Amino acid sequence: MPETLILRCDNCGAPLPIPDGVDFVTCTYCGSALIVHRDNGVAYTEVLKKLDKRTVHLANEIELVRLHQMLDDIDRSWDKELESYKIYDGKGPGQLPSEGNAVMRSLSFFLFGGWMLLVAMIGFGGFSLFLALVGLGLIGGGIYFLFRNFRKVEAYQKAISLYHARRDKVRLQIADIEAKLNAENPDE
Ligand SMILES: [Zn+2]
Repeated sequence: MPETLILRCDNCGAPLPIPDGVDFVTCTYCGSALIVHRDNGVAYTEVLKKLDKRTVHLANEIELVRLHQMLDDIDRSWDKELESYKIYDGKGPGQLPSEGNAVMRSLSFFLFGGWMLLVAMIGFGGFSLFLALVGLGLIGGGIYFLFRNFRKVEAYQKAISLYHARRDKVRLQIADIEAKLNAENPDE
């Protein structure tokens, strides 16, 4: 996370946290509209004159469009990413990874392996090493697939929370700008 810059309000001297990339702020103490200057490594705030408020309004509107575009990009790329997590088993629409799905998809290995072991021990009038090995092999395969499927569930869940975090961050920025636009005095 980038460090938040602390600048003094040009009007009242109050310390104001300036988020990265933000060019206009309102002083939380005196309410002054401030422009953030970043010149040659030196950053400071300057009170906006009335004329500049129109500039701020325009900048906010442009920023709002940019943020909505960003949100749209996040959603689009998530749609694509989501596709890569889907499990297709030849029929129907793809399923999203879940614990239940992971268990179900390896269950047949355990059932078939277990059945083989049973047949190896009690079937055909004697113990069959071959069938026992096949049974154990199937159970081993089931364990392998179970772990692999669970890892996919984990990766999928991590991706979802990352997507929501990115989305929420932009939505907060949008709400912030909308609040600023709503708070504007129409007489000015
Ligand atoms: Zn101030």
